[in-house]
Amino acid sequence: IRDADEPVDDTELAIEGALRPTSLAEFVGQQKVRGQLQLLLDAARIQQRPADHILLSGPPGLGKTTLAMIVAHESGRPLRLSSGPAIQHAGDLAALLSSLTSGEVLFIDEVHRMARSAEEMLYLAMEDFRIDIMVGKGAGATSIPLDLAPFTLVGATTRSGLLPNPLRDRFGFTAHLEYYEPEELERVIERSAIMLGVDLPRPSRAEIARRSRGTPRIANRLLRRVRDFIIVRGGDGDTATVDAALDLYDVDSIGLDRLDRAVLDALVRRFRGGPVGLSTLAVAVGEEPETIESVVEPYLVRIGFMGRTPRGRIAMPEAYAHLGVAHAESALR
Ligand code: ATP
Repeated sequence: IRDADEPVDDTELAIEGALRPTSLAEFVGQQKVRGQLQLLLDAARIQQRPADHILLSGPPGLGKTTLAMIVAHESGRPLRLSSGPAIQHAGDLAALLSSLTSGEVLFIDEVHRMARSAEEMLYLAMEDFRIDIMVGKGAGATSIPLDLAPFTLVGATTRSGLLPNPLRDRFGFTAHLEYYEPEELERVIERSAIMLGVDLPRPSRAEIARRSRGTPRIANRLLRRVRDFIIVRGGDGDTATVDAALDLYDVDSIGLDRLDRAVLDALVRRFRGGPVGLSTLAVAVGEEPETIESVVEPYLVRIGFMGRTPRGRIAMPEAYAHLGVAHAESALR
């Protein structure tokens, strides 16, 4: 899945790339994970070996790719980027692994979406830096062992629960990235604003941070939209300008976007507060269940708007208040 907030063209992608921090020191927030990663990288450096395999989990846009790049950069190793959906056969993975140079960092995004046969090959590769290549079919099939150069795998997933245990167990370090606090996002915005050459007063940076759904990628994206607004319509970057720019892009007062609101609206109005199953909810808003589950839901749960029960998703009183729907409606179900 791609996040609905993904940049839409090459220029946007290039800007997003330019805004990425390149060292752990520049990486804002996630203090605990940063400390743990630093130790892991320092130990590997002292022993002059590739770092242990790393699994990063958490909703999109919180910095998993950025951290993988930092791991490679800080350990002075090359980085290879791939993703689960691109590895649909064991052969795809064999080709990738056998072309790695010694110590290379291999980043596999959406590692939970790899083909099962490739997953099994990866177990052995991670543990022994070796793979078995099957040649031939049926009774005449033989497996030829192939030694690999030692590497560090950085796997990213929005849903660590979907990873089979044998795969999860082979990562030496697992980190779950949390949503960022508004003050942390303010620091991300401050840094990016300088890089983009936008002059924004502090209250405006705080306002963008408050509406960024706890997510640095969204913070950077909203900042770019505010910058566009100032370039085209003028304004001195005060909070009224930020308000006008974000209203134009359908970002509401607490940062919920069109899809977040569609989900809440369906839950509250159409399903009268639930409980409703994930796939029914997804059909109601015309989205993939996986997008709802990994992109929309975690944030709505985190801010206390939605609850998960064994019988399905339910709307919490805060969701009614935000939509301006009387909560008594739920009593009618
Ligand atoms: P996805 O899984 O959707 O690819 P991701 O978790 O890998 O998302 P990144 O691509 O690493 O997210 O980050 C998105 C953007 O947010 C990048 O442009 C990066 O500059 C910025 N960013 C993420 N985390 C931080 C951080 N801690 N400090 C500063 N900027 C950050």
